[in-house]
Amino acid sequence: KSGFISIIGRPNVGKSTFINQVVGQKIAIMSDKPQTTRNKIQGVYTADDAQMIFIDTPGIHKPKHKLGDFMVKSATDTLKEVDLILFMVNAEEKRGRGDEYIIELLKHVRTPVFLVINKIDLVHPDDLLAFIEQYKDLYPFREVVPISALGGNNVSRLLDTIKAYL
Ligand code: GDP
Ligand code: MG
Repeated sequence: KSGFISIIGRPNVGKSTFINQVVGQKIAIMSDKPQTTRNKIQGVYTADDAQMIFIDTPGIHKPKHKLGDFMVKSATDTLKEVDLILFMVNAEEKRGRGDEYIIELLKHVRTPVFLVINKIDLVHPDDLLAFIEQYKDLYPFREVVPISALGGNNVSRLLDTIKAYL
């Protein structure tokens, strides 16, 4: 099994940390250069039975008013081409305009989307359900997976779940 996975979310939610946790530090650091191509490979995870190519989608992390129609189209076209989208949010932060902007773009694609709630090490487990409530009615996420990208908690479970969609 092999596939392209786009990882999207507001700045600082932990996208790069997740890639580092999964594929190793060097690759993600190298690909943190300014992006000129449409699909920027951030890292490749290879296991015995699966290969996952994690890519970044230029234009999707920016607030709406700064984007022209062309960039919005380019970003959504990219999201249509991948096998799976990971929408990452920070368990510590309330839903914001940046999140809502991304969700609006997601409504234009049919690619399966997971809601990945990162930084669960920073919140009380009892607060997680209320956090998920903020997103439940906005978009029909295929899976909701809480992780700690930094500590690695639940990351292998997320990889197994991804595998099932490739
Ligand atoms: P990106 O902008 O989405 O790529 O976010 P980064 O990967 O650069 O992470 C932003 C900050 O959040 C860094 O200081 C990370 O160390 C921190 N961070 C990322 N994941 C976690 C996590 O699971 N737990 C905690 N406590 N911090 C995290
Ligand atoms: Mg980053």
